[in-house]
Amino acid sequence: MTSKFPVNPRRGAWVEIHLPALRQNLDVIKAALPSTSGFISVLKDDAYGHGALEVAKIAAEKGAAFLALVTVDEAIELREGGIKSPILLLGERQPEEFEACLHYDLTPSLATIESFTRLNQLAAAQNRQFPVHVKIDTGMSRYGVKWDEAPALLARCNEFPALQFEGIMSHFAMSDELDKTFALTQLDRFKTVLQWAESTHLHFKWRHICNSGGFLDLPQAHFDLVRIGIAGLGVYPSKVCRRLHGLEPIMSVKARVAFLKDLRPGETVGYGMRYKAETQRRIAVIPIGYGDGFPRVRNQGEVLIHGKRAPLVGGVSMDAITVDVTDIPETQMWDEVTLLGKQGGEEITIHDIAALRNSVSYDAMVSWKPRLPRIFII
Ligand SMILES: *Cc1c(COP(=O)(O)O)cnc(C)c1O
Repeated sequence: MTSKFPVNPRRGAWVEIHLPALRQNLDVIKAALPSTSGFISVLKDDAYGHGALEVAKIAAEKGAAFLALVTVDEAIELREGGIKSPILLLGERQPEEFEACLHYDLTPSLATIESFTRLNQLAAAQNRQFPVHVKIDTGMSRYGVKWDEAPALLARCNEFPALQFEGIMSHFAMSDELDKTFALTQLDRFKTVLQWAESTHLHFKWRHICNSGGFLDLPQAHFDLVRIGIAGLGVYPSKVCRRLHGLEPIMSVKARVAFLKDLRPGETVGYGMRYKAETQRRIAVIPIGYGDGFPRVRNQGEVLIHGKRAPLVGGVSMDAITVDVTDIPETQMWDEVTLLGKQGGEEITIHDIAALRNSVSYDAMVSWKPRLPRIFII
């Protein structure tokens, strides 16, 4: 990543992460929570492509009760980066991963007797009481013990004295759409499990079910913690969920004009000759392509130059796109281009990029490859 010949940014295309906006987003989210609820900062997949270590430092500074990741490798990266906060691992663990959990203090979320047994043995051998969160499947049908089988599992918690059952969690399948019917069913199932646990004197310090959608739209489901991924990054999980004043996207993608070219009528642009100039046109080449995660579209999409929209022409190459700047005659070599984010009064949102990919904002965010340097605005 470092070079003997530093240029900043290291190339003519980069991802910019605005850390003051992240701080503000987390403040806005905290202010919207009741005083009895904290938050977990969900940082899987390099904090949705934003840079997990940088986001983790700010989440920790803002008092996240846990940082949540999915793989042990992601967690080790944060530990080696100096992060001391409690880390919760989502997803499922292979038995061989528990040694690393103990070594790096990674709290697993578990849902089987086999995993309790294995972790209990290892923790007991080190004379430790190791925390775990129990994962309840209330209808997502992914990880976790099914809600109606949870009492049988929880009834056996006392067989594992080296485990400290500090958390219990579930996950919504649909929390950010207008129709909350199934989310409410899931919430009822979770509450039933919690009541059963209470009735047998099993007390969990941390009860959590909300993701960003649940946090925004289901205040009755906040419990002790909400798990915040996308909302902290300033992006709403859907078009219809509640809006919070002050939440702003923290990611932009920028580049510089790397070539300018005048086309005569009849000349074509790019592979497959997908665009043909009908009249005299001016084309700017931008040094970012599908090899950087830009959607592989043709004659579709726009970028911002001098606060104006320039349409893509031709196909997207691995390392370059071409845009028509005929109507932006002030364009010069190395002018700044915005591919995602605001410029002047215009904005290209992650939802616009997602539409080009026929996908959702989450997928569009994680699509920017590590090849694009991340520049952190502090
Ligand atoms: C990814 C994830 C979240 C965060 O979801 P957002 O919609 O980004 O807030 C929360 N909980 C679990 C289990 C997840 O996998």
